Amino acid sequence: MKRAVLVVDMIHDFVYGKFGSERAQRVVPCVKELLARAREKGLPVIYLRDAHKKGDKELEVWGEHAMKGTKGSEIVPEIAPQKGDYVLEKTRYSSFHETGLDKLLDELGVKEVIVAGVTTDICVRHTAADAFFRGYSVTVPTECVQTISDEAQCNALDEMKKLYNAKVVSLSKVIL
Ligand code: ZN
Repeated sequence: MKRAVLVVDMIHDFVYGKFGSERAQRVVPCVKELLARAREKGLPVIYLRDAHKKGDKELEVWGEHAMKGTKGSEIVPEIAPQKGDYVLEKTRYSSFHETGLDKLLDELGVKEVIVAGVTTDICVRHTAADAFFRGYSVTVPTECVQTISDEAQCNALDEMKKLYNAKVVSLSKVIL
């Protein structure tokens, strides 16, 4: 089954900036390892990043963050995209909402997505849900996702397992 890695919102505002945290920073080396292994195998690497415009519905909930064209929306340098990677901008929690991701995955022949990034209970979860609704298999490496607390992390991982049949596995067990 052809796989691709989705890197969700590993951007300045969610790692170091406005909504940044030590917990989010913890996943950076793990995502880096995942990406190195994926590239070695020739798997497509697709970055999804928040890039909001004034007036976006989501800003009513969270205030301004990850505004398009600002540093806040930039992917953190440790795992910057490399030649051949894909970078899609998003304006909602789900990486599938008006981003062209579904079409891209279809063109690449991808049937399974490995979802990494932040936060586990919001954008990762909504992305996993939409992937499942569209017929993709979902894998979530536990060390490659994070959110605000251990409890939120556990709940989100459990729900993705239960609701979307996601394979929630440690990074060393991820099949690429
Ligand atoms: Zn946002």
